[in-house]
Amino acid sequence: MNEHDSELIAGMLENKGYLSAEDQNDADIIVLNTCCVRETAENKVFGLLGRLGQLKKQKPHLIIAMGGCMSQQEHIGLKIKQRFKYVDILFGTHNIHVLPELIDRIESQKKQIIDIWSEQKDIKEGLSVKRFQGVRAWVSIMFGCNNFCTYCIVPYVRGREKSRQPEDIISEIEELVSQGYQEVTLLGQNVNSYGKDLMSGIDFADLLVMISDIKDLNRIRYMTSHPKDFSDKLIITISHLSKVCEHIHLPVQAGSNNILKRMNRGYTREYYLELVEKIRLAIPGVSLTTDIMVGFPGESDADFEDTIELIKNVEFDSAFTFIYNKRRGTPAAGMEEQVSDEKKVARIEELIAMQNKISLCKNKMEVGKTQSCIVEGPSKTNADLMSARTRTNKIVVFRGKRDMVGKPVQLHITGCSLTHLEGEVILAE
Ligand code: SAH
Ligand code: SF4
Repeated sequence: MNEHDSELIAGMLENKGYLSAEDQNDADIIVLNTCCVRETAENKVFGLLGRLGQLKKQKPHLIIAMGGCMSQQEHIGLKIKQRFKYVDILFGTHNIHVLPELIDRIESQKKQIIDIWSEQKDIKEGLSVKRFQGVRAWVSIMFGCNNFCTYCIVPYVRGREKSRQPEDIISEIEELVSQGYQEVTLLGQNVNSYGKDLMSGIDFADLLVMISDIKDLNRIRYMTSHPKDFSDKLIITISHLSKVCEHIHLPVQAGSNNILKRMNRGYTREYYLELVEKIRLAIPGVSLTTDIMVGFPGESDADFEDTIELIKNVEFDSAFTFIYNKRRGTPAAGMEEQVSDEKKVARIEELIAMQNKISLCKNKMEVGKTQSCIVEGPSKTNADLMSARTRTNKIVVFRGKRDMVGKPVQLHITGCSLTHLEGEVILAE
């Protein structure tokens, strides 16, 4: 989502006449689009700001702007005001669209501008987006989150759920298809609650049906799906729509009911397992990925074992694994029984080792099969090979020509590693 916001920022800057710089030393303006979901990302920003301070000493005309969800927090605003006076513009998540005006202002007034809105009343449509070139494009279908999981900062920095009107989403995707994009990924913190705030009664399943009707669009993906809102109607709809890919990112977070309750996730372990079963029955060959956290306050050895048991039971294709860290202002930050760093590290290592075993096993099961893929470009790790993506969101590297980019291809899977599959072309269309 942040990367998509960066595309928006880049689009607005290009509209203003800026061109992207090859190197930060050549830039006249540097915009940091920040994330505060986890501590590591935040720390990186302060390190980078320090280095940019040095650059600004050599190039006083350089404009430094900082946006994103870190900026949206009051204590960060204060810190920037007091300790990073050379940051020219601080803007938040609700006013990205005013950045061009803020740049005009800083050029004339040369005084630090801090402009953070507590919310945005209406969704701004029609902003120019400079998309990363490729086959796939991101499309936001909603903003914000109403769930207030107790560890999570997102609802505080992104505000309440707001859905875009279906017709605005459709016309954006039609435009993307006319530019040659093959695949869209619909974005929202919880796409399954799409439309709850609209008068029309259209829900996420209905939206998928409408998007599926767009001519020449090949593939539809979406993220993230909150398990508690994954309705039977949605499962059936997805299973019938051929353009909707067989991949669901379904963050579980923890395998223990005690922890799920303290996290305010709104489902139990049993509910989650039943949901997985329903999905697998309705959508054969579906790949499931997840987010999991260790070290949430109060997580005992037995709770952690429940998580390990759950991942063994579900056999996710892959997982993003995180160590819980305190986010200021969230309920979990004030909970007693914080888990020691030592325990957190030991648990994440065990979790990653187990998940890696499962992921590799899952990839091995693909060997010998044929997969319908779309070619995305040269492989990131070996420029002699090309890279394609399966409907189940796995990367396949294979020998092919550069002019295959954007084309559908049938690949016979011949090998694999933990991170990707290897294949050979059977049929290029
Ligand atoms: N809306 C998505 C998640 C967005 S944040 C959902 O509900 O699944 C992405 C992931 O970051 C979360 O799934 C969670 O696993 C992790 N995360 C969020 N807050 C965290 C925290 N305080 N510490 C560690 N990981 C966190
Ligand atoms: Fe955060 Fe929970 Fe909302 Fe996801 S659903 S963004 S984890 S509060």
